[in-house]
Amino acid sequence: MIYDKVIVRYGELVMKGRNRNQFEKRMLQQTKLALRGFESLTYAKSFGRLTISLNGAPFEAISERLKDVFGIVSFSPVILVDNELEKIQAAALQLMNGLEQTPATFKVSAKRAWKPFVHSSQEMNHLVGSHVLRAFADLKVDVRKPEVELRVDTYEEGTFVYNKVIAGAGGFPFGSNGKAMLLLSGGIDSPVAGWMAMRKGLKLEAVHFHSYPFTSDKAKEKVIDLARRLSYYAGAPLKLHLVPFTEIQTRLVQARQDSLMITMMRRAMLRITEQLAERNEAGGIVTGESLGQVASQTLSSMNVIGRATVLPLLKPLLMMDKQEIINEAVKIGTFETSILPYEDCCTLFLPKSPSTNPNLNVVERAEKNIPELEQMLLTAVEGTEVLELTPEAQASAEKAGEDEWF
Ligand code: ATP
Ligand code: MG
Repeated sequence: MIYDKVIVRYGELVMKGRNRNQFEKRMLQQTKLALRGFESLTYAKSFGRLTISLNGAPFEAISERLKDVFGIVSFSPVILVDNELEKIQAAALQLMNGLEQTPATFKVSAKRAWKPFVHSSQEMNHLVGSHVLRAFADLKVDVRKPEVELRVDTYEEGTFVYNKVIAGAGGFPFGSNGKAMLLLSGGIDSPVAGWMAMRKGLKLEAVHFHSYPFTSDKAKEKVIDLARRLSYYAGAPLKLHLVPFTEIQTRLVQARQDSLMITMMRRAMLRITEQLAERNEAGGIVTGESLGQVASQTLSSMNVIGRATVLPLLKPLLMMDKQEIINEAVKIGTFETSILPYEDCCTLFLPKSPSTNPNLNVVERAEKNIPELEQMLLTAVEGTEVLELTPEAQASAEKAGEDEWF
């Protein structure tokens, strides 16, 4: 293997200011978590970057994990050598020789970040470039569109020689921006919303409303699978609150406000979630809503629904198109699970013509006509089951014996 280290770059803008130390500490923690199991790795911090020594660990497998760590802007497998010209030249050759395919064109991009180094960046481009050219007869320099860009970054602690810059997930380190509740259905949208919220540094607890026995075990497993996938990105167990919603839905149906059914259901969900948020010290509610997608996601519906809670409603998908959301779902690995055909609690109670323009007064009056509603919401909160999920699919499900739960 030609690479001996990986340099990991964090977001420069978020690095600045007084949170820097905290941020770096969290990044190191999250990176180590993502790479647990690779016993040989060692870590060093320097100048806002993290350097991981591979000590024989396979870079490809590590790369797959690093791509999913929030807060990493990019990373590169590198050869690290002392700041001596001959060693740098040798490393450049070693790297070129180690490429899967010898390129037809290349260029050297040197960067002298440590000014006391004897050669300027320009000189280095030339000194390293000519050394490589001498070794490869057919190789040519192309400064505008080279097949391989050989980077030579000289820092005080040594020179990094590399050619790959792999994009990371970006965002903030997981958990650096507080906690929110995620309304997780079994659909395509809410897992993506959850991923985006976590990428912004939010720790999440998922809340799912089910209508057992109208919804099945399979529907439950689907949501558990989605939550497991999200816990992988968190690098930590993820709590999933399973709220019994059948009685509330049945009672709301009896109110015979057919076109307002969805509005009232959503408001009930928010009020329950608000109570769960309070008990779990979460400061917001994340949903997978996207403007105009269905009747309950018009501006006027969202207005009436949103008034059921004082917590900020975070809607990362609000301005995205469905196809963009689907593309994200495929990328984060939730799409295949989301499209499994199991019934959702809401589709079961779906009215024929839901209102796209509900009236707040009418909705509030209809709710007041159900005096026991308040108590029913509380009962649902009390009856909520909590699972703590990890990415390892079978293991923890069996341990908790939760499969007979529905
Ligand atoms: P999704 O693809 O996430 O199911 P959707 O496009 O089907 O979304 P709706 O069914 O209107 O849209 O749901 C809007 C949002 O309400 C969902 O993204 C989710 O955040 C929340 N939600 C819907 N049903 C449930 C449920 N059974 N449990 C928890 N949250 C739900
Ligand atoms: Mg849905």
